[in-house]
Amino acid sequence: MTYCSARPSAAGVLHVAPVPLRRAHLTETLQKATLEAMFSVTSKPVHTDARFTVSDFRPCYRSLDEADLKRRLLAALRELEDCAACPRNCHVNRAANETGVCDTGRYARVSSVFPHFGEEDCLRGWRGSGTIFFSLCNLRCVFCQNWDISRQAAGTEVTGAGIAGLMIELQAMGCHNINFVTPEHVVPQVIEAIVAAIPLGLNLPIVYNTSSYDSLESLRLLDGLIDIYMPDFKFWHSESAKRLSKAKDYPERAREAILEMHRQVGPLTFTPDGLAGRGVLLRHLVMPGQLDESAAIFKWLADEVSPDTYVNVMGQYRPEYQVDKADSEGRKKYADINRRPRRDELAGAIEAAHSAGLWRLDERWLN
Ligand code: SF4
Repeated sequence: MTYCSARPSAAGVLHVAPVPLRRAHLTETLQKATLEAMFSVTSKPVHTDARFTVSDFRPCYRSLDEADLKRRLLAALRELEDCAACPRNCHVNRAANETGVCDTGRYARVSSVFPHFGEEDCLRGWRGSGTIFFSLCNLRCVFCQNWDISRQAAGTEVTGAGIAGLMIELQAMGCHNINFVTPEHVVPQVIEAIVAAIPLGLNLPIVYNTSSYDSLESLRLLDGLIDIYMPDFKFWHSESAKRLSKAKDYPERAREAILEMHRQVGPLTFTPDGLAGRGVLLRHLVMPGQLDESAAIFKWLADEVSPDTYVNVMGQYRPEYQVDKADSEGRKKYADINRRPRRDELAGAIEAAHSAGLWRLDERWLN
């Protein structure tokens, strides 16, 4: 599951209710003034580098014609019939509601929908990032901070048309973007929703907020629909990925995926008022005792993707979920990550990013 930069407070979460109630609840309870009072967010963020500023931003999907959208929709629905939507390659027929590793059948499960004020400044802006949080996941991270969502069928199954309605509601509330969190296993359903939302008047950039355990086929179907890719890059070594996320091929798949995302949208650009417009915003969560992994990831990013990659070096790791678990002989299985990273480790990760040649580090997290 992707990291949530801050889990929303109970006051800010809208758990998905049955469709007839949901729309009224969204519009009645979270008007703009309430949002600003609730989260004390009133000022605009500032990004002033002219090289990464776009003055005439328009969501990329607005340039696609009807035939192209229809072609993508059909390809997405076909993908469900013999599912290889992510690197697990389960080849189950999800159109007939069969399930594979992600436990998700024909319809995506939505756990919450809300204007998110805990994301990066360029996403949350002053009216929030319109977040749609999917349940379940294709990874098995033993340290997942969202395990109550990623490992349980929380929330409600929602059709593509239903998700499109949620997107339009978030837009009507003034959110700056639509932020799909943990979409790797529901790419066909995400495409279905975007295609349904365009004729309803959707006009916001879409954020694809992913663990990076994505298939190239799925990402290619998203080319031209997604303006902002927000990939995590968790591990460099496959042994770590196998032990901690049960996906030995994670580093290889993540490298392929991030290169494809960068090919599609390039380095992150901003609108004149400091909001993310288009590009890759990469996150890396610093883990205790894994500075070598962080350094290798940053070097690869600078050398093979671009030194202009916008990177959020995240310091909020905390032991969660199965990290404190002991084996049958009472030994802690994950003792090495059963603590928060020290200040010197966080400073070392930031130093490693600079040494690699990365210079666009998300400033909010560095102060
Ligand atoms: S999306 Fe789900 S069913 Fe499809 S390949 Fe991935 S884990 Fe398996």
